[in-house]
Amino acid sequence: VKSPAVPVAIVGAGPYGLSIAAHLRAHGIEHRIFGTPMRSWLQHMPSTMFLKSVGFATNISDPAHTATLGTFCALDRREYADDVWPIPIRTFTDYAMWFQREHAPDVQPTDVTHVGLRDRQFELELASGERLTARRVVLAVGYQHFTHVPDALARLPSELVSHASAHRDFTNFAGRHVTVLGAGQSALESAALLHEAGADVRVLVRARTVRWHPQPNEPDRTLRARLRSPASGLGTDWLCYAWSNGPGLFHHLPPGARTAIVTRALGPAGAWWLKPRVIGQFPVATQTALLSAGRRGNRLELTVCGPDGHQHELMTDHLLAGTGYRVDLNRLEFLDARIATRIRQASGQPVLTPQFESTVPGLYAVGPVAAATFGPVMRFVYGADFATHRVVRHVARGLATSSRAAAAGSG
Ligand SMILES: Cc1cc2nc3c(=O)[nH]c(=O)nc-3n(C[C@H](O)[C@H](O)[C@H](O)COP(=O)(O)OP(=O)(O)OC[C@H]3O[C@@H](n4cnc5c(N)ncnc54)[C@H](O)[C@@H]3O)c2cc1C
Repeated sequence: VKSPAVPVAIVGAGPYGLSIAAHLRAHGIEHRIFGTPMRSWLQHMPSTMFLKSVGFATNISDPAHTATLGTFCALDRREYADDVWPIPIRTFTDYAMWFQREHAPDVQPTDVTHVGLRDRQFELELASGERLTARRVVLAVGYQHFTHVPDALARLPSELVSHASAHRDFTNFAGRHVTVLGAGQSALESAALLHEAGADVRVLVRARTVRWHPQPNEPDRTLRARLRSPASGLGTDWLCYAWSNGPGLFHHLPPGARTAIVTRALGPAGAWWLKPRVIGQFPVATQTALLSAGRRGNRLELTVCGPDGHQHELMTDHLLAGTGYRVDLNRLEFLDARIATRIRQASGQPVLTPQFESTVPGLYAVGPVAAATFGPVMRFVYGADFATHRVVRHVARGLATSSRAAAAGSG
């Protein structure tokens, strides 16, 4: 006997998926949510890292807005401040797991291996072997499908080259020479952690300088300073303020402007608290581009172009690519190709309605894959509240309309 379609299936149990599940639950909307809770944070980030976002910008969304990071820290007697204080990842993941137990208790820790479409219903297959149908699907899959490694490194073995997301801890690099590529928070923090773990570290940065974010929200700022550079979920200036608070307005910008902003906004930079753990601790070569890399015995030879415009050869034991992520829907291997081709895309990113629905009716996408439509805030936990309200309101209305139509049809 075929089981009836579940109204909503959520793929992914990170901050966005958990927020949506919490709101659907509060609305009494039947749903299922799949994925190991917080897997990206628990398996693909260094276990001793600190968050770049500040406390008030790192809440998972519940309908009452009471299950905040601050509430959890107060209940659990942990250190917390809304701003200025860097949050250890452990505090955030413990908070998220508490949120999951309290507000999204029905997460099924199994992967979705296939999403297909038949007769306007989605057909899902799970790693557990179960199959089900769903009337709506929300993709809340985060970044991990989209790791980016430059072509020059792509074919080298993992003992010589790895992406930053491959590491939880760096102790096995003690005594080895490691070259870190990139100038973003992940590259710089990985470099600091490698150095502190006893590795001999060098960082290669293509840009002229390494950028550092200023310390946010100094508590004693004057009114004038606050007006000149207002505090927001993404940082302390007017642009960050606009992106944090106006994802709905961002959606109305012309597509070209949105793409340009999302590509350039919040470019690579380190958090203010990381600076003393990098500057003066190990060499950071700026204006240095990686041209090629090849194995030499059990080491790696890198050919780089330095600030003098000349090529140099550098030897290293390992290269860690802190080269980020490139969202491309075509890399979601669990999504049936017939669905992927029906989703209107701009450079691999789905074109979404103001309600986060793709051009496949009933298929929604939130989090980093929605950044091209709603702006840079979707790359951060801070965007989860906005996305969740829009998606859940739309799903609730759609389901109510179809139940009324079904009732009228049967009456
Ligand atoms: C090193 C690093 C540091 C960061 N620091 C910050 C920070 O300080 N503050 C901040 O706001 N943001 C930070 N980010 C960005 C952060 O990753 C996003 O803000 C946040 O994780 C987005 O939430 P999400 O739910 O969309 O994605 P995720 O947290 O990645 O959750 C998505 C989940 O979906 C799961 N999934 C994927 N495919 C499937 C499938 N087929 N079946 C089942 N499950 C699936 C994944 O395993 C994952 O658990 C950081 C990112 C990185 C890489």
